[in-house]
Amino acid sequence: MEISDLSFDTLKVRAGYDPKEHNYSVAVPVYQTASFDLGDTDRAGRLFSFSEFGYLYTRVGNPTVDVLEKRIAALDGASAAIAVGSGMAAVTYSLFNVAEGGGRILTTAQVYGGTFDSFKKIYPNFNIEIDQVSDIDHLEEWRSKIKPDTKALFVETISNPNATIADIEALAAIAHENDIPLIVDNTFATPYLLNPIKYGADIVVYSATKALNGHGNAIAGLILESGKFNWANGKFPQFTAPVYLFRDSSGNERSFLEAFGTAAFTTRVRINYLAYFGAALGPFDAYLALLGLETLSERVQKQVSNAEKIIRFLETREEVAWINHPAAKGSKYKSLAKKYLPKGAGSIFTFGLKASEEQIKTFIDSATIFSYHANVGDARSLIINSPKTTHGELTPEEQKFAKIPPETIRLSIGIEDPDDLIRDLENAFGNAFSNKSEDVA
Ligand SMILES: *Cc1c(COP(=O)(O)O)cnc(C)c1O
Repeated sequence: MEISDLSFDTLKVRAGYDPKEHNYSVAVPVYQTASFDLGDTDRAGRLFSFSEFGYLYTRVGNPTVDVLEKRIAALDGASAAIAVGSGMAAVTYSLFNVAEGGGRILTTAQVYGGTFDSFKKIYPNFNIEIDQVSDIDHLEEWRSKIKPDTKALFVETISNPNATIADIEALAAIAHENDIPLIVDNTFATPYLLNPIKYGADIVVYSATKALNGHGNAIAGLILESGKFNWANGKFPQFTAPVYLFRDSSGNERSFLEAFGTAAFTTRVRINYLAYFGAALGPFDAYLALLGLETLSERVQKQVSNAEKIIRFLETREEVAWINHPAAKGSKYKSLAKKYLPKGAGSIFTFGLKASEEQIKTFIDSATIFSYHANVGDARSLIINSPKTTHGELTPEEQKFAKIPPETIRLSIGIEDPDDLIRDLENAFGNAFSNKSEDVA
């Protein structure tokens, strides 16, 4: 059967791997090697001139990592994918690859704390300016802030930590009107809940550390391309300039686009960024990500169902001031979530406690099933006070801009029994607000 005939749940355990090519091994073997034998000098010549495909050195390619790349590409309907050492490498390499040498990225404040920090600490030093819209939902603001040297729009499809939903189709249209790509971070949604390429996204990045793997045991990132963006429109000379390395059989230099076509973007990340910046994914971590991916649908379904139960519970508590999740009552993202995320808007969200700093500390310290640490999408449920941790490097003004007030608590809901999780939170409410009746009396 052709890959295109297979559905998601088959692809997530089988795509990109043929046992016949690996000694009939049922599990994907871990090719735990730094380097690959070149065979003979003729073969080496072909490999190094890219006229024959083969592995050379694990920093730029490895068969175990390759299965992960092919599998994620199949799950998201991408033309090509590349695995990197972390989600941060995936974000940074993608944005550098599109804007390197000078340019601007237009984005929002509704992004992962590390991404937000990197915008001010890293990009300007590399001659890339970051512009941010103040309201991700305001399409006219996006349109009006695009400048002649803006090279891409960048959003998280479901934002960290507030579960803001991006209007991908509308943003892709605005990007394409301006001959620039839409780059999305789809970490919170995972390909099970959302395939952004279907809605016009050109580049999709993941922290595979999170729900993709789902077991909190490896750091990994992925970059995917749709194969549809026209890199030859004059704005991206890095894809059309001739490269000596890619000479054809008659010795003519070819560009990334000529040599790699619908894999030009990810191949450029491989050849320029993995080769020289070097955040390669190790084969064993790729193996763990593949293992985690096998149960992606089952885990995410349970997480979404648990998250919705916990949101219903939180809505009954008078100590809760607000809840940021499309499933919460009154969320302004209901219609976008219905369109883009019919299977659920993920299991990570924030809520505000009407509480003193001391009470918030007691609340978090009282949770015993929820683990207190900075990760998301894990099979275990997690709790964290984002303003003091994951978004702690933001100044108070930046926290305000990113809509993370001091009373914010982020939950990432796992696959445990939902009643146990609710009892754990009930106990935390009890401890944090134990003096309340006395106060009132
Ligand atoms: C965690 C995260 C990242 C960074 O990923 P790492 O694998 O930790 O480097 C990027 N984007 C989002 C949305 C994240 O949640």
